[in-house]
Amino acid sequence: MFSQRITTLTGQDLGGWDLFLKSRAMVAAGEKITELTIGEHDIPTSADILDALHSAAKAGHTGYADIPGLPDLRDKVAERVQATTGVPTTRDNVIITAGGQAGLLATQLLTCDQGDHALFIDPFYPTYPGSIRAAGGVPVAVNALAERGFQLDVPAIDEAAARTGAKSLLINTPNNPTGTIYGRAELEALAEVAKARDFWVISDEVYDSQIWEGAHLSMRALDGMAERTLVIGSMSKSHAMTGSRVGWIVGPKAAIAHLVALSTHSTYGVPGYIQHAALFALNKGQGFEDEISEPFARRRLIALDILAGQNVLRVSSAQGAMYMFVDIAGSGLSGRDFAEKLLDERKIAVMPGISFGQVAKDYVRIAMTVDDETFGRAIQDIAAFAQAQV
Ligand code: PMP
Repeated sequence: MFSQRITTLTGQDLGGWDLFLKSRAMVAAGEKITELTIGEHDIPTSADILDALHSAAKAGHTGYADIPGLPDLRDKVAERVQATTGVPTTRDNVIITAGGQAGLLATQLLTCDQGDHALFIDPFYPTYPGSIRAAGGVPVAVNALAERGFQLDVPAIDEAAARTGAKSLLINTPNNPTGTIYGRAELEALAEVAKARDFWVISDEVYDSQIWEGAHLSMRALDGMAERTLVIGSMSKSHAMTGSRVGWIVGPKAAIAHLVALSTHSTYGVPGYIQHAALFALNKGQGFEDEISEPFARRRLIALDILAGQNVLRVSSAQGAMYMFVDIAGSGLSGRDFAEKLLDERKIAVMPGISFGQVAKDYVRIAMTVDDETFGRAIQDIAAFAQAQV
């Protein structure tokens, strides 16, 4: 028999992902589908990063690597986080993980005992409740409503924390799927609640290089929060290294020491040659991160320009990240029916909002992950499709 933990892991949260699988099956069957589903760049990892990876492997970095991560890479991550937060950060505050995803699970295992409650925000990145369940916790959603630009609803978080005694809150800014960047006022109010109710904030900041409007603020930067914040970072989105599976957790030294013990009993670290490539990539500097994020900035403007010429679809904030989050209620269809019909009739695959929780059921998420021309054509098609429904 399989464990209760594993058989209940995904829960009922994944409505809508069957459409992603359907579009993949259509592609496999030879149909021409414009896929605007998952968050992956339309470019591969750059050649010089791959050269660094290859050279490191050839130079012998093929054995077990240091489990917390290469000292130089941990130093570099610490330097990056210190520069953006102003909080003194050293390698002892950093563990290298197999992508942000491994960090999400590890931070839940770190903070959550069997039966504990853990808060997360709806709409949400789909693995969030599963990572809480995998740690034996009970996921509790707190809504971030469209009418408030999907910003944090701090009084609702306070109420949920008081009601459940939650050990942690998981937030994501810039946000997938909504594109919202959490504002200073909300984050400062949240910091007060986190301290008063004594819970951890797990802050998923994997889109911190994709900022289109406003500024990214890390929870770690706020007064008294470094000791109760676990920041999750990743090379996936910022450096187009999704397949390399390399990211990090930044937090208090004692937390990192426990996470090293967990890593010793799970992944046994991240391959050394990948870490060398990650260090090389980080040393390329801000200019390279800008270069990787620039196509999404461009495509966002293409979409906003096209969608300004119609009034059925409404774009939400789109302040950051590689997606457009679009309110399709004006079409008279549910997000799911909209996405399914769009796939069948126009051969365009997008994610129905319901894949990201109840709050988003009248939305679709459009990934900006095809070349500009194809993307512009797809947005035009989606707008025409929406118009044809009314
Ligand atoms: N957090 C969010 C919000 C994401 O969208 C993703 C990937 N799509 C991840 C974490 C995990 O990314 P990775 O494991 O590649 O770092």
